[in-house]
Amino acid sequence: MSSKKRIVALQGDGIGPEIMAEALKVIGWFNENAGTDIEVSKGDIGGMCIDKHGVPLDDATLEACRKADAVLLAAVGGPKWDKVDYNIRPEAGLLKLRKELDLFANLRPAKVFDALVDASTLKPEIVRGLDILIVRELTGGVYFGQPRGIETLENGERRGVNTQVYTTSEILRVARVAFDLAKKRQNRVCSCEKANVMESGKLWREEVTALHDAEYKDVALSHMYADNCAMQLLRNPAQFDVIVTDNLFGDILSDEAAMLTGSLGMLPSASLGAADENGRRAALYEPIHGSAPDIAGKGAANPLAIILSIAMMFRYSFDLGEEADRLEQAVEAVLGKGLRTADIMSKGCTRLSTEDMGRALLDTLAEGASASKAAASA
Ligand code: NAD
Repeated sequence: MSSKKRIVALQGDGIGPEIMAEALKVIGWFNENAGTDIEVSKGDIGGMCIDKHGVPLDDATLEACRKADAVLLAAVGGPKWDKVDYNIRPEAGLLKLRKELDLFANLRPAKVFDALVDASTLKPEIVRGLDILIVRELTGGVYFGQPRGIETLENGERRGVNTQVYTTSEILRVARVAFDLAKKRQNRVCSCEKANVMESGKLWREEVTALHDAEYKDVALSHMYADNCAMQLLRNPAQFDVIVTDNLFGDILSDEAAMLTGSLGMLPSASLGAADENGRRAALYEPIHGSAPDIAGKGAANPLAIILSIAMMFRYSFDLGEEADRLEQAVEAVLGKGLRTADIMSKGCTRLSTEDMGRALLDTLAEGASASKAAASA
């Protein structure tokens, strides 16, 4: 890689510092051994930021994140901050970061590693080889639409209101992300809504179709009602490549897809903003799990979800597809050796601490590097 990349690492709370330490060793390995030039600076977020600055995201960290090529976050939150004011709770820091960077596309891969196929509650033959990417619209729809609120009617009844609302540009920008990503995968996009009962869904379908016909004819597009998608994810998940959907349906479908893999400690995510004229996007990479306060400080956390988030960062922010493949293959190889943290432990495997899992991954990366050197000189 020719150009320097700058990232901000936000370790946050709970198991955050433990998994971030292993993640940074992986980035260090790539810098030393694979020609990357990634400069890491650290910032504060979540509960530890409240303790230090009185707010869950301080201005200096936000500014650094704005200027960075990507942000890598571990996790925020924990019982220590359960009683702080709602507006400055640890999670508010993360929400602010997403909002300020206008991260409208949330990418949630659900990939089943062969070695973990038995961790799923579905039959191995249904989930083996599964590799889905859900692209969820993250900043619009019913979670943000106006009017919203709870009101008391004249007859004394109460009424709760939320509004599902999407504009053409909101639909097009997230659909574009899905089509572009599909091109780097199996070239298939399934767009999900409820066009049968919701006008916003009808608009969603029309706009996605028009964009496809105008710019992405080479990508296979299908449409599915979101309720059917929920069923199909359990019946035949392998039919999907990229699923693009709105904020509400994406929230539900991405959690459902995640559970197909059966292991929270293995799942990365990315949230992307709009591309500027140079193709550069604001981007946040983080595992989907939380700060796991129940195991914090015990060396029991699985660092692979944040490490797989680095692979996503390589692929989607730095265009380092080969390095991303290399990292994902190393994770697969570590699992293939029967090495496990407690959360994914199974019979006959060796249980490792967070740090030992990080070290096993670096050793496996090094083995891969020397094997490819040997092959090149043969
Ligand atoms: P959680 O994801 O932290 O933990 C759920 C369960 O999974 C726990 O038993 C935990 O030990 C386990 N687990 C999670 N990650 C693991 C890992 N990497 N390795 C091994 N085991 C792992 O969810 P929770 O318990 O509902 O929430 C705990 C805190 O995290 C709360 O304060 C919550 O608000 C916060 N949270 C933060 C984020 C985020 O930072 N993006 C996301 C979800 C929850």
